[in-house]
Amino acid sequence: MAGIADVLTESERTNWLKSLLAIAIAKSGVEKFVEKEATTLHGNIYNAILSSGAVACNGCHTANLLKCPTRKICIKVGAQCTSMHDTALKQPRPCPANVCNRVLDEIAKQHRFSNPSWKNTSANHWSSNPWQIAKAYFPPDGYTETSSVQDTDFNGIISFMMNCKHFNNTFSFPIAPAKPHPPCILTKAREICRTIRHSSTSKVTDTVLQDIFITLTSLLTGPQCLAHDAAAQEAASKLAKLQSNVLKLTTADIINYENSCKGHGAEVEWFNFDGELIFNKITQDQRLCDAEEEELVLNMSTVTVVTRTQWYAKSSKEGAKYMTMPVSHMFIHHTDMNECVSQTECVIEMRKIQHLHQDINGWADIAYNFVIGQDGGVYIGRGWDRVGAHTLGWNNVSISFAFMGNFTDKLPTDDALKALEEALVLGVKLGKLTPDFKLHGHRDARPSMESPGQKLYDRIRKHKHYEPIGPNIVTVSPKSPV
Ligand SMILES: [Zn+2]
Ligand SMILES: [Zn+2]
Repeated sequence: MAGIADVLTESERTNWLKSLLAIAIAKSGVEKFVEKEATTLHGNIYNAILSSGAVACNGCHTANLLKCPTRKICIKVGAQCTSMHDTALKQPRPCPANVCNRVLDEIAKQHRFSNPSWKNTSANHWSSNPWQIAKAYFPPDGYTETSSVQDTDFNGIISFMMNCKHFNNTFSFPIAPAKPHPPCILTKAREICRTIRHSSTSKVTDTVLQDIFITLTSLLTGPQCLAHDAAAQEAASKLAKLQSNVLKLTTADIINYENSCKGHGAEVEWFNFDGELIFNKITQDQRLCDAEEEELVLNMSTVTVVTRTQWYAKSSKEGAKYMTMPVSHMFIHHTDMNECVSQTECVIEMRKIQHLHQDINGWADIAYNFVIGQDGGVYIGRGWDRVGAHTLGWNNVSISFAFMGNFTDKLPTDDALKALEEALVLGVKLGKLTPDFKLHGHRDARPSMESPGQKLYDRIRKHKHYEPIGPNIVTVSPKSPV
C-alpha cells in the first residue's frame, strides 16, 4: 500500500506537503486552548464594563465606533469616505449604550502594537461572539468572513496570540520581543506558515522541514499552558508520527486538515486509502484538464457523466495521443479492484486506479477511456478520442469501458449496465463509434486474462454488437501500451 513517499517522487515536494500537514496538525492542537482564551478575554472585557450597570449592545457597526479618518482604514474623509464610512448607516456616532466604544478602547489597549485590525471585526457581534474580538488581533485583512477558530488559518491564530497581551501569562517566554532578542516560538511558527504557504516551488529542504517539526513541537509542548492541554499533546504525538512517516489519519482528520488548508493559493486534498495517506496538491490548471472534451460530452449526454474535474483527476503525464474517429471496436473490462456504490466512493476508487496506473505502472494516465461505477455513473478516463492503455495491440483503434469491481461471480448493477448502453448510444451519436461497432471482452484479445470477469463476459457475449476476435477479423499489429 502506498504511503506519502511512494506517491511523490521528489522528496522536497513531499517535505512541502508534510509541512502543510504539520501546520494543520499544530493548528488542531492549539484550537481549543485559543478558543478558551478568546472566551476568557471576552469575559474580562465585558464583565469590567457591564459591572458598572451598562447593558450589552449589539447595534453598533465597527464603522460607527471609528472616527473618520482612521489611520490605515479611511481613504478619504467624511461624505467622501470610500472604505469604512461609505453609507449613512456606517457614519461615526457614539454607542447609545456607551458600551461598544469602551470595548473598542479595551481591544486597542490589549493590542501589543496598538494596531487592531478593525477591518476584520464586526462590532455588532462583539457581545455574542468572542472570536469577533479575537479577529481584531489577526493580520489586517482577509478575515471578514471568519467567525470561529475552526475556520481561521494558523497564521490568524498565531497572530492573535502574538498581538494580544492577554497571552503574556500563558507562555513561558516573552512574546515577540524586540531585537536584538531572538524571535520567540510564535514568531518562528508564523514565519513557517508564511514561507510554506507562499512557496512558489512547493518544495522544502530536509533542514527546513526539521526546523518546522522542532518549532511546532516546542510550541505544543511549551511548559506553561499547552503542555497540560490534551489536544495539544495529541497533536504533538501526531507530529512525531508524521515526522517518522508512521502517521495514520481518520477520514475526520482529513476533512479537518483539508479545510484548514483552503484558500492559501494551493488547494490540497488528502485521500485516505485503506488507512494510508495519499495527498496531492491540485492546481487550478490541472483541474481544468480536458475541459473542452468534458463539456462536449456533458452537453450531449443523457448519461450521468462524471468529469475528470469532478473526480479530481491528476493531469495526464505526457502529451495526449489521439485516435482517428470513429473507431469500430470497443472493449469491456473489469478493474478487479473495489466496487463503489456512490459517487463519493467511486471518486476515491477512480483516484486509486489512476494512482496505480500512473504512479505504479508508469502509464501516462488512467488506462481506460471510461470507467463505470455501481452507482451508474460513467467516469471519464481518457475520454473518447485519446489512445488508452487497456488492451494490448488494440489501444489505438478501440475504446474501453471498465466496470469498477470484480464480475467473475456476479453482474454489475442494472444501473451500471444501463449506463454502458446509454454511453454506447451516445458514442455512436457523437461520431466516436461506428454504428456497427464490434463489442469485445478484454479476454477476447488477451485470452490469458480473466477480465471482464466470467459472469459479465457471459452477459456481453449475448450483446447485439458482440463479436469474438477470430481469424476473419482484421486486427492491428500489437503496439506497446501507452
Ligand atoms: Zn472614514
Ligand atoms: Zn453599541
